[in-house]
Amino acid sequence: METRNKIVVKKVSFFYGQNQVLNNINATFSEHTLTAIMGPSGEGKSTFLGLFNRLWDDIPGARVEGEVRIRLADRWVSPLVKDVSMPQLRRKVGMIFQEPNPLPMSIGKNMKFPLKLAGIHDKSIIAEKVQKALANAFLWEEVKDRMEKNALDLSGGQKQRLCVARALVLEPEVLLCDEPTSSLDAKAAGIIEELLIRLKAYCTLLVVSHNQEQVRRIADSAMELRDHGLKPI
Ligand code: ADP
Ligand code: MG
Repeated sequence: METRNKIVVKKVSFFYGQNQVLNNINATFSEHTLTAIMGPSGEGKSTFLGLFNRLWDDIPGARVEGEVRIRLADRWVSPLVKDVSMPQLRRKVGMIFQEPNPLPMSIGKNMKFPLKLAGIHDKSIIAEKVQKALANAFLWEEVKDRMEKNALDLSGGQKQRLCVARALVLEPEVLLCDEPTSSLDAKAAGIIEELLIRLKAYCTLLVVSHNQEQVRRIADSAMELRDHGLKPI
């Protein structure tokens, strides 16, 4: 199958005030691949992921140089120069964090909330999208009879799968995962790993991981952030 670039990073440097975290990063990521981002803590892995959804936007003193391009709906956008609106970008570039962070409300509301924010109000369309996303996140069978229950009462692994489902319901093209299994036990982590591999059918994934075994199991390729640079490993 022809592989096409999904993300292009050119000469990107990143600063928190006087503290330079990334220096002259160049990289390309092909669509429908899973790339692991490794490296010691504090090297800038989370900062690197946040380039793609403008996570640094609200951080005082944060500054980026260079170019990031993402092909969304077959149009190249440049999130660093704001040629794409924040809601549009955050819809198409989903993010999963180390600590699952469902909202303190029901499972159903957690899933409907992003769709309502995106302007979708038709109840049957919402129900259909919610079921599909939960199924794709391997969670539908476990929650279909208790959608009104508080999401915070789910197990850690279920919460993380809910967070994946909540991202998937907006049909993202890129999924950023920042140590998505670090807070989970081995069994729950294994389900997330299997899920991430399957999601390559829909998304291009960048996954920060410290776990070499995990990277071997799930990643098509791996890169390491060290000394402010990013290199293939
Ligand atoms: P990693 O994810 O690899 O552990 P981070 O991207 O979180 O690394 O952090 C890289 C560096 O940037 C660290 O030195 C960290 O202290 C600093 N840093 C991270 N977030 C901020 C912030 N909001 N303001 C200032 N400095 C930050
Ligand atoms: Mg981090």
